[in-house]
Amino acid sequence: MVHLSNEFNCEDALKDGSYWMPFTANRHVRKQAGSRIISSAKGAYYYTPDGKKLFDTLSGLWCTPLGHAVPRIVEALKNQAEELDYCSSFQMAHPVAVRLAKRLAYMAPENLNHVFFANSGTEAVDTALKLALGYHRLRGEGGRFRMIGRERAYHGVGFGGISVGGIVSNRKMFAAGMLNGVDHLRHTYDHSKMAFSKGQPTWGADYAEDLERLVALHDASTIAAVIVEPVQGSTGVVVPPVGYLERLREICTKHGILLIFDEVITGFGRMGENFASRRFNVKPDMITFAKAVTNGIVPMGGVLISKDIYETFMTGPEEAIEFAHGYTYSGHPIAAAVSHAVLDIMEEDSLLTHVRGLEPVLEKAVHSLSDLPGVRDVRNFGLTAGIDLVPEADSPGKRGSALFELGMQNGLLLRCTGDTFSLAPPFIATEEQVLDMVETLRRLIITVTQ
Ligand code: PMP
Repeated sequence: MVHLSNEFNCEDALKDGSYWMPFTANRHVRKQAGSRIISSAKGAYYYTPDGKKLFDTLSGLWCTPLGHAVPRIVEALKNQAEELDYCSSFQMAHPVAVRLAKRLAYMAPENLNHVFFANSGTEAVDTALKLALGYHRLRGEGGRFRMIGRERAYHGVGFGGISVGGIVSNRKMFAAGMLNGVDHLRHTYDHSKMAFSKGQPTWGADYAEDLERLVALHDASTIAAVIVEPVQGSTGVVVPPVGYLERLREICTKHGILLIFDEVITGFGRMGENFASRRFNVKPDMITFAKAVTNGIVPMGGVLISKDIYETFMTGPEEAIEFAHGYTYSGHPIAAAVSHAVLDIMEEDSLLTHVRGLEPVLEKAVHSLSDLPGVRDVRNFGLTAGIDLVPEADSPGKRGSALFELGMQNGLLLRCTGDTFSLAPPFIATEEQVLDMVETLRRLIITVTQ
């Protein structure tokens, strides 16, 4: 057996590639890996080994809205580990997860009363797609096999998720293994008409008619489900035009197609409501969730499912007796216990009210960047915003990378993809912290774009 030497050095191990960083240009980043290490976190800040303090501008990867190392959550985790650290969820159940399912159903739109647990957004999406196929088959409509996603969508990295997803770079390398029969709605972002919009754009609801085009093309009898993020997060906060989601709902209902909202980012308060479905007052047939359900401290995901879908599985033909799907860690006791602590804190500290109060503060602050010549667009909704820099003529993405590096030197942990970056500060942030974040950004944007 090989032992690590006492002189083990994390930076060297990153450079030699033992650790392969996900969604990272490793061949470039390895060379400068020393600047990528985070050693601790508390509240709204991360800390590097050399003592730099970085404001968490995206709440982890949209998953730590209550901040880091929250004592009550840590305590819930420890207590549950002592009480019941693991229990199979196949033909078994334990009180913490059962109670969580009930609690989530109360928080969701009233037609969604049933919860199937997974461990990530990717797994939640796969689960929802499989439920859609099963639902139609059990109703004698097994010909409905097509899924409709949307351009620019992120639904995780499983084969289901990348197939319905619309981020070209996430699909290209794996094109040979995509699901059959998937088509995509156009994304709703039109720079010429929507740039610098505040909240929901008032223009563009007719993009939803694209669904009628796909129905005509493929015939409704072949389409199982439409999946969309109510607000697209990973591609830089693309906000649906007023009336767009409502129209998608109408068209799906008219043609017997299930509507799935992927609320992995928008669920649990980011939109100022428990779910974006509530904020937009549109009821999907399923909601996928993950991330903030446990404040990122341990993995958990899942699907909220309509009564109609659930009852179809409960009463359908013989093959419906078991939905042959589940994960070793579905409804993990520790994740469920942590989630209760997270939801308790959100309720007791009235964090949704705080988020609704911060939304106009973030809106005003980010739109004050609109006048900078290096800024191409600013968009916002809920407690989140997307900002596009003007790309450098022959090297798109260069300014985004430069901004990220400058952020690390100037107290901000930023998330840039290409020349676009997203902001989603923790719910516990104060007005002053939000304003400071934007003021620092102003300086850094000027530096990278002049
Ligand atoms: N769906 C959406 C809308 C997401 O934003 C993400 C993650 N950013 C996922 C699915 C995948 O989640 P995970 O990384 O937990 O698999």
